[in-house]
Amino acid sequence: MEVPFHKPYITEDEIAEVLDSLRSGWLTMGPKTVRFEEKFRDYIGAEDAVSMNSCTAGLHLALIAAGIKEGDEVILPAVTFTATAEVVTYLRAIPVLVDVDGETFNIDAAAVEGKITKRTKAIIPVHYAGQPCDMDEICDLARRRNLAVVEDAAHAIPATYKGRKIGTIGDLTCFSFYATKSLTTGEGGMVTTAHDAWAERMRILRLHGISKDAWKRYTGEGSWYYEVLEAGYKYNMTDIQASLGIAQLRKLDWMWERRKQIADLYTDSFRSLDAVQTPVVKADRESAWHLYVVKLVCDALTIDRNRFIEELKSMGTMASVHFIPLYRHPYYRRAFQYSAAGFAVSEQIYDQIISLPIYPGMTDEEANQVVESVAQVIRKFRR
Ligand SMILES: *Cc1c(COP(=O)(O)O)cnc(C)c1O
Repeated sequence: MEVPFHKPYITEDEIAEVLDSLRSGWLTMGPKTVRFEEKFRDYIGAEDAVSMNSCTAGLHLALIAAGIKEGDEVILPAVTFTATAEVVTYLRAIPVLVDVDGETFNIDAAAVEGKITKRTKAIIPVHYAGQPCDMDEICDLARRRNLAVVEDAAHAIPATYKGRKIGTIGDLTCFSFYATKSLTTGEGGMVTTAHDAWAERMRILRLHGISKDAWKRYTGEGSWYYEVLEAGYKYNMTDIQASLGIAQLRKLDWMWERRKQIADLYTDSFRSLDAVQTPVVKADRESAWHLYVVKLVCDALTIDRNRFIEELKSMGTMASVHFIPLYRHPYYRRAFQYSAAGFAVSEQIYDQIISLPIYPGMTDEEANQVVESVAQVIRKFRR
């Protein structure tokens, strides 16, 4: 049996919502997008939610809203997807990388202050695998040093920190609805914020810089007249995407429960295996379990991480690695002279981490196969 790394959980409910949009004749941003924003805002308990065509677009506009300009420095973890840093370069600002914590793989909050300079304007904590970062420490530091906190919550739907949902803590929080994320619209994103003026600016910027509610110009209550207030972007969500989002949001709590069940099954089953360390989730927070990442104890094995993944694949279990640290990529080396120097933890865990399949549509048999293939590879290659 093959267990793919990911399968989106799409049912008749999503299909019916999309058909409803197609039949309505309204395809792009419109009433359903507005409804999805309201429902998402209420689910998170945020003040406002602004939809986008991706999390990357959301991060870009969030940085603009926070006032990031050319030459500014923005602090972010070394272990993340390129989107987190790429948006900083859109503004000709400088991504400043910080090493991660060896247990949670989140940004090492204690190492952030040492990277702050006169030019630092913002911090982008990334809630790795769905586990919230040390938000009290990060927000206290940001307040003291007058920095904006723009969260990359691409993995963190839904996740809680000290009982508060991610999306209600930092200045701006950016979510992803990419096909592999824990709530999907195929492609899509959302930014939550309590700053009204910033939400308003992002609504304008996401649709060509046109005055508010520009999408209504083709409805009965709209008017052909509009004004372009600034050079904006084409970053809006569509009603077809929002249909998927509305249906997914209805089952989000159930999908989260199922992810938690699979994570618990893995953690219980791997406890007796000394060649893998299971994820560490701090007691005051709950992970979204977007990813389940084990750390290999390489000294206990005769094979390395890459070979371990190949062996899993040969048994039908697909695995992945999140992420190749940014300083290892040619672009970031070339543009910012990054190297492994100063990133001892990122460098070490990069050789050890494996992301195992975890998604709500997984059957118990599939989850058990994942457990069995990990155990078998270890039996075969233990030192
Ligand atoms: C998926 C992802 C993004 C980008 O999300 P998109 O919606 O594809 O733009 C950003 N950051 C992290 C950490 C991600 O995993």
